[in-house]
Amino acid sequence: MESFTQTFQPPTTGSTNHRLPAKALKMHIETIKSQISDNYFYALVRENDVALVDPVDAKSAISFVKNSGKTLRMVLNTHWHPDHVSGNDEVLAAFDGVELVSGPDFERVNELVSHAVDRVVAHGDEIELGGQKIQVIETPGHTLGHVAFLADRHLLSGDTIFGAGCGHVKFGGDIKSLFQTFDSLLPTLSADIVYYPGHHYLQRNLEFGLHILPEDQATKEALNAELSLSRTLGEERKINIFMRTHEAQVQEALKSAHAEIWADEAAQSSSDAETAFRVLRNLRNSW
Ligand SMILES: [Zn+2]
Repeated sequence: MESFTQTFQPPTTGSTNHRLPAKALKMHIETIKSQISDNYFYALVRENDVALVDPVDAKSAISFVKNSGKTLRMVLNTHWHPDHVSGNDEVLAAFDGVELVSGPDFERVNELVSHAVDRVVAHGDEIELGGQKIQVIETPGHTLGHVAFLADRHLLSGDTIFGAGCGHVKFGGDIKSLFQTFDSLLPTLSADIVYYPGHHYLQRNLEFGLHILPEDQATKEALNAELSLSRTLGEERKINIFMRTHEAQVQEALKSAHAEIWADEAAQSSSDAETAFRVLRNLRNSW
């Protein structure tokens, strides 16, 4: 991943060269609530073209496309988990000429669905929709081959970031990779990018954050505000304890309240921030 990270240049807030003027933001995003699971999935719409991201609920996805009057060009999968790919076949069968796109998880996707992945993408690749580029960003951890898609300022982040939390690593994931994604990759993305997650666990995650840092003002305020599914990465960084593992107060709180778990995780970590991340993920699994 590191070599990809060097070649991939995410847009930065500080650079006017990379900042798109507002009128250039023409990629429209639609959030669709699955009627058959607790997932949320997304439609990217550009001009007359549509891409669906993880359309687990095929019926809702198909009616969205038909009602839009636009042309479905592709289905994008962020990762192989069944609650993200099991709608693929029905959606792909309902329209002609739709391309199935997956990242490094493609072999697992092919094991679960009949329609084989048509196009495998990797970090730094670009996908074109309606003449506009969508960038592929590898975000390993929740699964080994998890990818996110960046279209304008919309980050389709799958099960990597959840409101005030992160994906688990219980189902084919890797905690060290997830930490590296949170520690080395997500901070390079511009604060004005809005992420769109696969699930809405914000309230529970904020309550967990408050359990770790009972006096944290940003977390308290977020719990009293509207519990929205999506927000900017800049806002997320203030309330997501998994993005705050470098803070001394987070590390101290974990060390003092969970000394044994801290010691276990520290034995496998390269830094206190990584230990804090591992302890948080560990605690959240059973909280
Ligand atoms: Zn998942």
